[in-house]
Amino acid sequence: MKIRQRISVSGIVQGVGFRPHVYRLAHRYALTGNVKNTVAGVIIEAQGTEPALASFCAGLSAEAPPLAKIGSVRVEALECQPETEFVILGSDSNEPANTLIAPDSATCADCLCELLDPCDRRYGYAFTNCTNCGPRFTILRHIPYDRKNTSMVVFPMCPLCQAEYDDPLSRRFHAQPNACWDCGPQLTLLDADGLRVEGNPIAIAVELLKTGRVLAIKGLGGFHLSVDASNAAAVDVLRERKHRFEKPLAVMVPDLEQAEKLCEVSDADRALLQSPECPIVLMRARADSRLADSIAPRNPDLGIFLPYTPVQHLIFAEGGFHALVMTSANLSEEPICIDNAEAIERLNGIADFFLIHNREILLRCDDSLARTSTGCVEILRRSRGFVPVPIALDRERPSVLAVGGELKNAICLTKGKDAFLGQHVGDLENLSAYNFFQESIRHLEGILEIIPTAIAYDLHPGYLSTQWALEQKGIPKIAVQHHHAHVASCMAENHLAGQVIGVVLDGTGYGSDGQVWGGEVLVADFGGFCRAAHIEYVPLPGGSQAIREPWRMAVAHLINAGGDALERARPYLAEIPQAQVELVERMVRQGINSPLTSSCGRLFDAVAALAGVRSRVNFEAQAAMELEACCLEDESIGEYGFSIREGDCYQIGTAQLLDEILQDRLKGRLPDVISTRFHRGLVSVLAGVVARIAEDTGIDKVCFSGGCFLNRPLLLGLDRRLKEAGIETYRHSEVPCGDGGISLGQAVIAAFAQGR
Ligand code: ZN
Ligand code: ZN
Ligand code: FE
Repeated sequence: MKIRQRISVSGIVQGVGFRPHVYRLAHRYALTGNVKNTVAGVIIEAQGTEPALASFCAGLSAEAPPLAKIGSVRVEALECQPETEFVILGSDSNEPANTLIAPDSATCADCLCELLDPCDRRYGYAFTNCTNCGPRFTILRHIPYDRKNTSMVVFPMCPLCQAEYDDPLSRRFHAQPNACWDCGPQLTLLDADGLRVEGNPIAIAVELLKTGRVLAIKGLGGFHLSVDASNAAAVDVLRERKHRFEKPLAVMVPDLEQAEKLCEVSDADRALLQSPECPIVLMRARADSRLADSIAPRNPDLGIFLPYTPVQHLIFAEGGFHALVMTSANLSEEPICIDNAEAIERLNGIADFFLIHNREILLRCDDSLARTSTGCVEILRRSRGFVPVPIALDRERPSVLAVGGELKNAICLTKGKDAFLGQHVGDLENLSAYNFFQESIRHLEGILEIIPTAIAYDLHPGYLSTQWALEQKGIPKIAVQHHHAHVASCMAENHLAGQVIGVVLDGTGYGSDGQVWGGEVLVADFGGFCRAAHIEYVPLPGGSQAIREPWRMAVAHLINAGGDALERARPYLAEIPQAQVELVERMVRQGINSPLTSSCGRLFDAVAALAGVRSRVNFEAQAAMELEACCLEDESIGEYGFSIREGDCYQIGTAQLLDEILQDRLKGRLPDVISTRFHRGLVSVLAGVVARIAEDTGIDKVCFSGGCFLNRPLLLGLDRRLKEAGIETYRHSEVPCGDGGISLGQAVIAAFAQGR
């Protein structure tokens, strides 16, 4: 007795080998019928016995191809048809394939075998891919995702590739970037002047790397700058030329075995390293690693990733390197280079040689960054491999565009129950980043076919993203306070909708009172917030100058502490010239160029400077990271005290903290003791304040957000203390806790306002 069913599958089910998967399953269970791509997803009509159809349906999800992400499966009964076979129907060309676009994906095991197999026709071919792997998002001009709409359009397939593309049983059935030596893109090696170097590009590139040269290597979402990671001189040259001092460099290793030689790799790390997303994974470095010390100076962690393109695999296979530095090819904070000519021009004086190819990157996409060391996967930079996979919202919401903040910018678009975060744009401080920001909006709106009904932007009037939003005509605009957006982002990710207590600790965010907020406890929902507690205001002497020179924050907090604190601290600020200290003292006392701040990041800076850890930084948060690095787990070390001032809004005071640090310095205590007592004291005071607010309000759900939650002792300590007090805690996982995640919060707040 046969039955017939229509099975509709939504999600990322096109361009990932889903129809061949359906076809193979149908054959296995002796079904007849058909499968086709439609606007709504993949639609299957299948006919056979009831148990066979049940097994078929189970197999659809259970055995789905690696890159497929199934949203929903809907089954309806149909009348049986007279038919004898199962067929794959072509897409209806009038209907755009309006399902989700897959992200770029690391080379799969099957393709890797072919790449390294001398008998395979793709042996050594640097653009080998299939429906289970390869470029997607970064080569897509517009939808539907068909070869003609990608940068592969200029490479007509040879008969062999075309046959694979047309064969439902081939791994390359409808693999849009399918190519081979005969028909696809090719590598070229250029010297610093852009002149072609004759010979095998991979072999010569490997020789150059071995002799300490800096190579620009074109990847999936942009160029990398690469040097041999065990060659200290080469690493120094790269840093010098790139103007990237002390900031950790990402390291690519050939395989897991090498990763385990460099770092302590947990099971969760292993899964992440080998995932199709292939992010850089931050892990605890082993002391005996053979890398140059300057890879990540004074940092206990290393950022490691595995090769994810055939070019990278070929370089490791040919060169036998243990580790290569692979850092984004750009000058300091500019966007990553993607175009060949642009790379040669912009990387002039940085790269000695260029390993390029003629498959255009249409959209830049930096490497993603993640860690698992706090007990769950945390995506710290959400870009290549993750974009444009949506974050699931708890319910359908109006479509809005959120433009994010100023630093680590990433935009967000919502549609139905999906929130699409754009790729990491970076700091909107220069014209090229601003252009990239606009491009990321245009492109994401285009490929997702979203017409937003409102634009959400940060309250800060000076942000370029804010200015862009305010220039848009004929659309409602909704300003969102920075820390409110942080809380809402954490709420959205965790599917919370009612009121929560949001603990938001970060460097900088424009407050509703015009001051620089950053150490905040808010009572919030999507509709609004009130400020329930904050770190007491101190002046921020010199604005952004104070971020580069943590000692300035030490002076500000010392003066705020009153008494003779500043005088007592003088010996510990000995490396700062007297005249400079006096200048900053005058600025603070007279309020010259010194906005008020409640920043938690700047409090870390002040403590780092006073503890003798660091008085000037080369990159954002360096002082805080080094202070964290010397924090011990020893429970017997004790903690510093903070004061809590009562009122409508609790204020956390730092005078006692400063006094106790100075006492410890006088006793000759080392930075690790000071760091430990500071971390523990901060956790205690925050836990105490949150517990009081929970009692005042009856709210027992707490969200953590803000870049300071990258700090592990702070995150884990506060999490534990609040849980012990019977409070539910929620944190970021899929979305960055820093400013890379605020566009999601802006979006849900604006969508909520639109939906009212
Ligand atoms: Zn593959
Ligand atoms: Zn071919
Ligand atoms: Fe922030």
